[in-house]
Amino acid sequence: PGVVRFEDVHFAYVPERPILRGISFTVPAGRTVAIVGPSGAGKSTLSRLLFRFYEPQSGRITIDGQDIAAVRQDSLRAAIGMVPQDTVLFNDTIGYNIRYGCWEAPDEEVREAARLAQIDRFVASLPEGYDTPVGERGLKLSGGEKQRVAIARTILKAPPILVLDEATSALDSFTEREIQDALDRVSRGRTTLVIAHRLSTVVEADEIIVLDKGLIAERGSHPALLARG
Ligand code: ADP
Ligand code: ADP
Repeated sequence: PGVVRFEDVHFAYVPERPILRGISFTVPAGRTVAIVGPSGAGKSTLSRLLFRFYEPQSGRITIDGQDIAAVRQDSLRAAIGMVPQDTVLFNDTIGYNIRYGCWEAPDEEVREAARLAQIDRFVASLPEGYDTPVGERGLKLSGGEKQRVAIARTILKAPPILVLDEATSALDSFTEREIQDALDRVSRGRTTLVIAHRLSTVVEADEIIVLDKGLIAERGSHPALLARG
């Protein structure tokens, strides 16, 4: 399960400024489609529509053939895991931050998810900005570490569909490689929509869609797009 389809989706935040101008693509079950394009192209808007933060003006988005306009937002959130660019941590341990949305998960599962995301050494710590009752300081996590919390959360939740919003700049290349590996591990076998900024990070995608000014400028596999320049 988990076929995601955009059918001729048009969307504008304000009427005079169309952001998506007829976008159609399918992410087959268990496959990965990457959306690539310059900043402002409308990539994040696509993922917001998938969560029904906004509704398209025309066209439709379906999951397994069902128009998501008829699906409750909380059901969408249960079915779709999101690894955002910026993860906001709340005032509890990293372990509880990983549990977010899966409060009943047994400790061992939380630990295993943390281990796979390589964040396990922090599970008992509080995030920066929060101090323990005995005055210990919260831990400052780097951008990459926060993203690993989100990855661990997603591993724990194991949703059939994933949206990965790739981090851009904040990560050094070693961290980026490690995060990339962790993301690849999470997305294996799941329907995955990757929002990316550069072609080089989405080599593994089954299809790459290049978005420009609200239209699909190009689409194809990584080698095919490279061959076309
Ligand atoms: P990308 O993710 O490709 O950088 P976005 O989907 O975030 O692009 O944004 C596409 C365009 O929509 C941008 O021009 C942006 O300024 C505009 N935009 C994004 N969010 C809003 C909003 N809430 N209201 C109005 N315009 C928005
Ligand atoms: P649930 O508890 O039903 O799993 P939550 O309300 O706990 O859902 O929120 C977590 C999920 O909600 C994320 O996995 C993601 O699917 C979605 N989500 C939360 N915040 C955002 C956001 N800023 N952008 C897109 N999706 C989000």
